[in-house]
Amino acid sequence: MELVCPLCNGLKDVRAMCRACGVRLEDGGMITDYVGPYSPYELTPQMKQEHGGLCTHLLYCSTCGEQTYLIAQSEYI
Ligand SMILES: [Zn+2]
Ligand SMILES: [Zn+2]
Repeated sequence: MELVCPLCNGLKDVRAMCRACGVRLEDGGMITDYVGPYSPYELTPQMKQEHGGLCTHLLYCSTCGEQTYLIAQSEYI
């Protein structure tokens, strides 16, 4: 048994829809891939706290550019 992020491991698809256009949002990957000295994305203290054991993904709409976060609950495989 191993605790993994179902999105990172392809166990689940992102089901979130864009609020503006209703198309399915693309998974932009783990938010940690984006957070850096020059990153426009900032993790809130709450998100940092929740990051232990959870995986935060950036979702984006390929149609209008809308971006949102999805915090994925890790699952045992
Ligand atoms: Zn993940
Ligand atoms: Zn959109």
